[in-house]
Amino acid sequence: MLKFVVSILLVFFYGSVYAESSCLDTPTAHALFAEFQILKTTEKVNIDLCDQQSAASTVIKTLLFLKELGDLNAEQGPFIKNWLGASPYVFFKSRVKKIVLDDSKDCVGLSQVWPSERAQKVMHVCTKASQYEVLTLAEAFVHEARHLETFMHNHAVCITGENYGRESCDESFESGGAYAVGVEFLMRVHQSTQLDSRLREQAHQMALRALRERFNTTPSGLRTYVSLQERRPKILR
Ligand SMILES: [Zn+2]
Repeated sequence: MLKFVVSILLVFFYGSVYAESSCLDTPTAHALFAEFQILKTTEKVNIDLCDQQSAASTVIKTLLFLKELGDLNAEQGPFIKNWLGASPYVFFKSRVKKIVLDDSKDCVGLSQVWPSERAQKVMHVCTKASQYEVLTLAEAFVHEARHLETFMHNHAVCITGENYGRESCDESFESGGAYAVGVEFLMRVHQSTQLDSRLREQAHQMALRALRERFNTTPSGLRTYVSLQERRPKILR
C-alpha cells in the first residue's frame, strides 16, 4: 500500500516534466542532458523520451528529482556529517561528467547504476534501472558519485545481515563511504520539512534499513536514535 501511495505521489510530483503525450518535456530534457556528456554503449540503446522505461528517461527523471530538491539544509547530527553538502545535485554534478546509457552484458545482476573510469568521471545507467522508484535511483546516483572521488571508497564483504557474503557493505558509517553518503542524503530528505511527508517517511525508512544492513560495525548512535524515534509521536519522526 505504501509503495502504491508513493508511486502516485511521485507521478504527481513529476507530472510537470511530462507533456500530455507522456513524453519527457524536450527542452527540460535537453537542458539537463547538456550539463553532462551522454554516451551509449550501442546504437540500440533507446533514447526515446516518450518511453519512460528507457535509460534516457530514467536518467532525466532522476537528475530532475535531484535538481528540484534544491538545498537540503539540516542540522549536523549522528547521520549528517556534511559529506554531502546541502545540495545533492551539486554533489553529483561535481563528481560525474559522463553518463553512459548501458544495455550491455555488464547490466546483469543487482547493479543497474555503477561507476567506471574514475579519471573520466563516468557513471553507467542500465535500461532496467527504470524499474526502481526515483528516490532509490537518486540515492544510487549520489552513492556512485561518491565512488568517483579521488579515493574510490571501495566496499567490504558484509559479515552479517541480508547481504551476508556479498561485497555490499562498508566497514563503518564513520568512514564516510558511498553507503554513508547515501544515508546522509536520505536523512536530509527526511529532515526537509518543505518536502512531502510521504517522501520524507520513505527516505527515513530507507536510511534506517541502510544503517542496519550496510555497515559491518553498528553505526555509533544508531541504537539511541532508534529508541528515541520509538518514543516520539509519529508525526514528529
Ligand atoms: Zn557502491
